[in-house]
Amino acid sequence: MQPDRKIDLLNLDLPALTEQVKAWGQPAFRAKQLWRQLWVKQTASFADMSDLSKAFRDKLEEESCIGSMRLLTVRRGDGGLTRKAVFALPGNETVETVLMVYPGRATVCVSSQAGCPMGCTFCATAKLGFQQDLTPGQIAQQVLWSQRILREIPHDVDDSGLTRHRFADTSDIPERLTNAVFMGMGEPFNNYDNWRESVDLLHDPEGFNFGARNFTVSTVGLIPGIQKLMDDPLQINLAISLHAADDEIRSDMMPVNRRYPIADLIDAVREYTEKTHRRVSFEYVLIDGKNDDQEEAEKLADVLLAGGKFPMHVNLIPLNPVADTGMTRSSRDRVRAFRDYLELRGIPATVRIQRGVDIDAACGQLAGDVAKELRAAEGTAEEENGVGA
Ligand code: SAH
Repeated sequence: MQPDRKIDLLNLDLPALTEQVKAWGQPAFRAKQLWRQLWVKQTASFADMSDLSKAFRDKLEEESCIGSMRLLTVRRGDGGLTRKAVFALPGNETVETVLMVYPGRATVCVSSQAGCPMGCTFCATAKLGFQQDLTPGQIAQQVLWSQRILREIPHDVDDSGLTRHRFADTSDIPERLTNAVFMGMGEPFNNYDNWRESVDLLHDPEGFNFGARNFTVSTVGLIPGIQKLMDDPLQINLAISLHAADDEIRSDMMPVNRRYPIADLIDAVREYTEKTHRRVSFEYVLIDGKNDDQEEAEKLADVLLAGGKFPMHVNLIPLNPVADTGMTRSSRDRVRAFRDYLELRGIPATVRIQRGVDIDAACGQLAGDVAKELRAAEGTAEEENGVGA
């Protein structure tokens, strides 16, 4: 069968997988075995599913796949503690995923779309425009990949990297992923249903069993998405890309602001915190001369506190400059002054230290250059596939 006609098993929850397995003339309990292989053991190939008969494995190989994206390359940064995967979709659009390992925790930054329609002027993914929505299986595939590669990191990390990043030794590298953040390419709330299904697939206690609180979804501020999430029984964390407290400046940076201006956005977020009692994070990328002076810090504190304080945290991210935007990051002093001012107003704020800068894997830098990546992949695809896509 043509690869792109195959059924992606990662798109199927257990009931759907059971239906499919029955349609293949197999007893229902085979579905449970297959499900365990996919989600509990994260087995990357049918050949390794030794509890399934050879005949059934051949059938699976012929008609289905474990994730429909092809792993093109894996880049290694921060002494081996950061890995960036580049995947190709069936139509050859590329998607990036970044795994970052810290002492005792490991976070994967997951993409929800190929390209992005939101058009933020400082973001590399925006330059690609919108390419396509990822399916639930394609979103989940990135997390399964990260879990597999995480297991290999203790055997493939630089001592200097460990020291630099404050690990006592390799035993500080966790065996299990601890966080999945939807902060890769794309706008998760612009692909809400597929994104949300991927969370269900990964959350299933009989499967990958990833806790709801270990997910964080980040949005440009699509209010309908925030409203849906506040009625969701799962305790998924919410992050809002705010980046400016002045409508004129924000609309200039983020076209979405013309549709959902700051006051409406903050109202929706306040309602979310009242309903869910969960703390919200605001992301604020600091751009030299654009949104980083004292006046902007004051406006930000005013806007956040206007209707009364709610549980919040501000993450300050010095811009990762993207070519041809003319924008540069704020100076260290500016960043510190901005943080200190928010703290003074009683707003908890943290300056985020960036991972993956050396491999174009830092915030806002994800923009698979198809031609470049495909060229780089020639000759390495076979070998890299061994890592398990
Ligand atoms: N569309 C979602 C999630 C993807 S972007 C959102 O916007 O929230 C993840 C984060 O990276 C967002 O806060 C985004 O604004 C930020 N980001 C984008 N470009 C960046 C850059 N060049 N430097 C630093 N952060 C950037």
